[in-house]
Parts: sequence; C-alpha cells; structure tokens
Amino acid sequence: MRRKIIAGNWKMNGDGELVRRIAERAADAASGAELAVCPPFPLLAAAATQLPSGVRLGAQDVSEYEAGAYTGEVSGAMLREAGCRYAIVGHSERRTLYSEDNARVAGKYVAAQRAGLTPILCIGESLAERDAERTEAVVAEQLGAVFEAAGDRAFAEGVVAYEPVWAIGTGRTATPEQAQAVHAFVRQRVAERDTDSAEALPILYGGSMKADNAAELLAQPDVDGGLIGGASLDPEAFLAIHRAA
Ligand code: PGA
Repeated sequence: MRRKIIAGNWKMNGDGELVRRIAERAADAASGAELAVCPPFPLLAAAATQLPSGVRLGAQDVSEYEAGAYTGEVSGAMLREAGCRYAIVGHSERRTLYSEDNARVAGKYVAAQRAGLTPILCIGESLAERDAERTEAVVAEQLGAVFEAAGDRAFAEGVVAYEPVWAIGTGRTATPEQAQAVHAFVRQRVAERDTDSAEALPILYGGSMKADNAAELLAQPDVDGGLIGGASLDPEAFLAIHRAA
C-alpha cells in the first residue's frame, strides 16, 4: 500500500505564531495519513522544535548546488540539518516567476536526493496547454527531464505533486476525474522506466484543495494525498483535509 501524504505549502506566508498554532493542533494528527508542513526557510528551526515528532518538515525549494558563492541559496545539507525530510522542487510559481526550466528543476531534484531529502516534484500544465490538449505532453516532458538527470529509478525515493497551474490559488479545482486521469498517466510513465517505483510512488494533487473537496479527490485510486497552499494556513482547515485522507 502506498502511504498517503498531506503536505502544507505555506509559500511566502506565516510567522512564529502560525507555527505555534499548527504545532498545537497537529498533536491530534498522529494517526492516519502522513502530515507534512513546508514553511518559509526562517521558520524551519522553530517548526522543527515545536511540531510533534510525527509531523514531517519540508522546504519549499532547494539549491541545485552543494555549497559556494550562490547568494540567497540554501543547500540540501542545510535543510537536512534544519530537520527537513522533504524539499519541494519545481513549483509552478518558481517555474514561472523565477524562470526555472525543466533542467534546473531536475538539478534540484537530484541535489535534494543527494542530500538525503525526499524531493516533491511539482508538475502540471497551464490553462492554455490544457485547452490545446497538451497536458500529457507537458507532464511527460517535466518527468522526462528528471529521468534524464536521475536515471530510470529517479522516483524510487521521491514524491510527485500534480498541480494544474489553472487550479493553483484560483479556487478552481480539477475534477476528481481530471486529477485521476493525469495521476494515472504519471504513474504509467514512471512504470515504463521502473515498475516498482511506480507502484510505490506517492502522487499528490495540488490546486485549491480544501476541506470540502478533499475527500472526493483523495478517493481516486491514483491520488495519494495533497499539496495544500491557501488552506494550509488555517490549522482548522488543514487538519480537516488530513482527516479526509
Ligand atoms: P493552493 O496552492 O492550494 O492555494 O491552490 C497549492 C500549491 O500551490 O501548492
């Protein structure tokens, strides 16, 4: 059985008070799906000391480099030392606002694994790409870059988050059927390289997942959890999604 994961991506939001409130509420979340929180870098240390031990910590990004003159960057080893288990790579906001292309994202994916982190690779199509029926081509290309950098067993130790760009922060969620179709496609692409890693790979859905639509998305056979943006900033709503998983 694949593990289910509910991960919160705070983006550039939150403060010490939010860490404290989530830590308080997450104590009830010891059972069921794995719960993970990805706050901004400066809050990682506070989160590492305050979150109950069962809650995993993740970073929102990681450098593709190990060390050196890269002002503003944070390495995988630093994130490990800060208590992270996960690092998100290739979020659509990084891809579009900071021009991260597939090759750079793949470099980050490899760097995370090298540091002993589990990368959460975000993939997904824009609305124009969906309308042009290019969803599978886009997702295949995004996966392909990672295979090229990390080999056929790239996803043996990894997580994929399918996040249609048109659903992120828009209140417009993919239907369970739309999500399932892409998740099944992703798993099939991974299986073409390595069946064992495809079977075990958690594929999360992200894009306006909330307490009231989580259950039907999570009921799909290839939806193994969620990457939650806006709703992860409200401890009540975030833990309600966790209960739905
Ligand atoms: P959202 O963000 O839940 O606010 O749509 C999801 C994400 O960007 O990871």
